[in-house]
Amino acid sequence: MEPRLTVPLRRIAPCSTVQAAWCADSHPPPRNPQRPEVLRRGVRLCCWCAAQAASVLGGAAAAPASESHSMVKLVSFDVDGTLIHSVGDSANKVHRQAFKGAFKQVFDVDTDIDVINHHGCTDPLILLKILEHHGVAKEESMPRLGEMQTSMLQYFETHKDEVADGVAVLPGVKNVLQELKTRSDVATCLVTGNLEPIGWGKMEAVGLLDFFSPSPFGGFGSDFCSGNTEESWRDRAELIRIAATRASHLLPNPVSERFHIGDTPMDLLAAKEAGAVAIGVTTGTYSRRDLETCGAETVVLDDLADVSQVLKAMGLE
Ligand SMILES: [Mg+2]
Repeated sequence: MEPRLTVPLRRIAPCSTVQAAWCADSHPPPRNPQRPEVLRRGVRLCCWCAAQAASVLGGAAAAPASESHSMVKLVSFDVDGTLIHSVGDSANKVHRQAFKGAFKQVFDVDTDIDVINHHGCTDPLILLKILEHHGVAKEESMPRLGEMQTSMLQYFETHKDEVADGVAVLPGVKNVLQELKTRSDVATCLVTGNLEPIGWGKMEAVGLLDFFSPSPFGGFGSDFCSGNTEESWRDRAELIRIAATRASHLLPNPVSERFHIGDTPMDLLAAKEAGAVAIGVTTGTYSRRDLETCGAETVVLDDLADVSQVLKAMGLE
């Protein structure tokens, strides 16, 4: 017999809002209505509706709610200041030079990313913000974002053997990723403002690439740019949503809960906006106080050095 939803499919969408009262009428309340647990085909579902939707949507079906062990927690990591940091005189050299070359090649502007506070911004928004700083209006810079990103990627590709210069893996990162890789109830990915080839290129250069869940996947600066340089965290939130959508297509098991780990207030605000649990680390340029003011529920760690503490923050201990 054809599997059927007891809740009509068209009514699944309200699950993606906080107002889950309608679905609570037909089953027990979601374990946490504030945090929809599964992303399927672009809509977030509570755990119960996800279980019902699975048989109708097919593919990588959600498990019945009673078999929560087959669901996975999705952990997304920011890159700069979270997994790796800049060190020495050649700090983050190749990425910085890629930006510098793009400004010169496309707009004939001699500049450097340090003319603004770029921490927590996506690469496309950094390009726009710096050009604004030099008097180039967004109407002029936005249409040429593609050219600038292509320029950056060309530079990065031709200097790949230097990517590890000026970057280092932060304490505990390898141990945390290694531990998460061994767990069948966890999937890991990147959510970073880096253009995708640059993000993965850095991971490969420092020996972290193989720790992430296959394909590998994530959300990257190259995936989306609204042009909103005033609230850069909003673009990052979109990247977290994109990673969740990709997870729903790529992972064999449904996602029960999402976590995003980052070093800037923008990471934490974005996580909350996109329905993920925000975990801050003070290994970047922001203090514990800076990160804690992003919300009462925000978990802030000094770093990722204590594996058990990191696991505990995600309910994985
Ligand atoms: Mg960062």
